[in-house]
Amino acid sequence: MTVAQAACLESALADGHRLLMTGAPALSVVEAAIRLLEDSGLFNAGRGANRQLDGVRRMDASIMEGCRLRAGAVASIEGIVHPITAARLVMEKTAHVLLVGQSASRFADYFGLVRATRAKRASRPRSPQLTPRAGLSRMLRLHQAIMRTGRIRARSLGKETVGSVALDLAGTVAAGASTGGVDVMLPGRVGDTPLIGCGVYADNEAGAVSMTGWGESIIRVAVAKEISDLLASGLSPVRSANRVLRKVVDRISGAAGVLVLSPDGRFAIRHSTPHMVAGSIGWDGRPVVRGRFA
Ligand code: ASP
Repeated sequence: MTVAQAACLESALADGHRLLMTGAPALSVVEAAIRLLEDSGLFNAGRGANRQLDGVRRMDASIMEGCRLRAGAVASIEGIVHPITAARLVMEKTAHVLLVGQSASRFADYFGLVRATRAKRASRPRSPQLTPRAGLSRMLRLHQAIMRTGRIRARSLGKETVGSVALDLAGTVAAGASTGGVDVMLPGRVGDTPLIGCGVYADNEAGAVSMTGWGESIIRVAVAKEISDLLASGLSPVRSANRVLRKVVDRISGAAGVLVLSPDGRFAIRHSTPHMVAGSIGWDGRPVVRGRFA
């Protein structure tokens, strides 16, 4: 964890705490915290999002609130700084849950979301233009070469995705996440983050869950909903998180990290990855940020 990342997380937590104390809904606090992290360029989201193998940033985000189980998400969205706000707009302005690709980008433009400025590239000698088929074939060979080394999981976990969970004064929980995906991804790859029940879940009768890690393993276990179901059955946040993370490792050699918050304010931060940069803030208003959690 860098000093800048720690400072950014602390200020997101302090802002969130201030908002909650003034009676703001958990949904707005989750969105505000993620916007700050997307804006910072320090994480794998928004301005700092990973690029897919064709050099394009395609981002995923989702948000959910636990009172009426409302949710919104975007996948493969391009050219904007705040996919989390696009996800919230899908939830609030449409009857849908998920918009994808260029249609999602146009939807974000329609609502005037801040566009990312294109980075100026140093002028390099141009490589010969490839046909789309030859380009895909080259990317596929690279992707499959890494797959064959068995290092696809390790290569998938680089800079951190961002996520947030919150509980408001009215007793509603919310969860959100925003990501640029993983390393060596084919164009069009979508991870767990925009999939409700995989990357996020929020239910006032269970709790709020936000995931990070190797999306392909999180999807196959539908991790967020599985943790939520354990919470609903009465298991604590720590035990629920540990049990499902163990399943991800044991059954499919996956890797994940999770934020879990129950409607009575108990929470857990757990990961099967070597590190997870995360933090929490309670009623006392003192942020705690670390790079590893037991
Ligand atoms: N879960 C994200 C994805 O697979 C990546 C991450 O959390 O680092 O797209």
